[in-house]
Amino acid sequence: NLILAFETSCDETSVAVVENGTKILSNIVATQIDSHQRFGGVVPEVASRHHIEWITRCTDQALAEANVSYDDLAGVAVTYGPGLVGSLLIGVTAAKSTAWAHHLPLIPVNHMTGHLYAARYVGEFKYPQMALLVSGGHTELVYMKSEHEFEIVGETRDDAAGEAYDKIGRVLGVNYPAGKTIDEWAAKGKDTFHFPRAMEKEDNLDFSFSGLKSAFINTVHNAEQRGEKLNKYDLAASFQQSVVDVLAEKTMRALDQYPVKQLILAGGVAANHGLRSRLEHDMQKYHPDVTMLQAPLKLCGDNAAMIGAAGYMDYEHGDRAKLDLNAEPGLMYSEKN
Ligand code: ATP
Ligand code: MG
Ligand code: FE
Repeated sequence: NLILAFETSCDETSVAVVENGTKILSNIVATQIDSHQRFGGVVPEVASRHHIEWITRCTDQALAEANVSYDDLAGVAVTYGPGLVGSLLIGVTAAKSTAWAHHLPLIPVNHMTGHLYAARYVGEFKYPQMALLVSGGHTELVYMKSEHEFEIVGETRDDAAGEAYDKIGRVLGVNYPAGKTIDEWAAKGKDTFHFPRAMEKEDNLDFSFSGLKSAFINTVHNAEQRGEKLNKYDLAASFQQSVVDVLAEKTMRALDQYPVKQLILAGGVAANHGLRSRLEHDMQKYHPDVTMLQAPLKLCGDNAAMIGAAGYMDYEHGDRAKLDLNAEPGLMYSEKN
């Protein structure tokens, strides 16, 4: 069964063709990073205009690369939330038109479920499982009891991990999104600053990154005022060590509290090399019987292939949307259709 999937929740216009939720026939991602960089973040109006310009080309290219036509498809999956309303609407409209014109079922997909399903390309899901979902807008521990029963058991109380990377990157003059560069710099430095690890020892599964962000920014500004230039590699390494320590510690705590078969690592920040290797180490040490699926590096950021994988699961489950499907900017896991 072939699913045509659309993803336009933020600043990536993406269309994919996926077979049985496990094989990517094509995954076109048109990033708008260049257009937003000079603003230091995503500008919603600019984003939706880009989606309008690119969505048709991406769709044609996805079908051509997969070498399939509309007649071969079993359904059309689309991200309908959470995300920027103006961006979501472009994908939702494209998916609805396609479904209507070609008499195909329309499958509504939650963007965060999509992120989780990027890991489905690495192996089968084994329930119950726990997920550490770290992205530009979310940082959460998700207890996945079954295919359709997800519960957030821990989450950030302020900034998301990716957001913190982007904000401290800005202070170091790194273009948005900064995560990848900071990750690379971190590999060249050492944790010499010992920034705070917020809530690390607290008996809950929540996170907080705004204190770390402030500590980082103050350190850099104070040094600037003294006319001192700090080593950017050590700054990056110190910041990353603090983030990774907290994420790993809380994930291990979640696994102590919830017996599961598997751990999933997904979301844009799941591309972080420090986090990936730390979790591999900790899982072997503390939870050797729990398997781990880390989303493939290329599928950590926003893409339609992950929506196709989640969409296929929803399709099999019988989830269908009518043609009045609307964008839901604040969509939660529990709200289905
Ligand atoms: P959400 O999915 O929560 O709606 P989003 O879609 O904007 O937000 P993603 O595309 O999943 O977020 O992830 C983008 C974020 O990942 C950015 O903040 C970026 O800096 C961060 N990121 C990307 N690569 C890395 C990396 N190697 N290390 C740390 N952060 C990274
Ligand atoms: Mg993005
Ligand atoms: Fe995302």
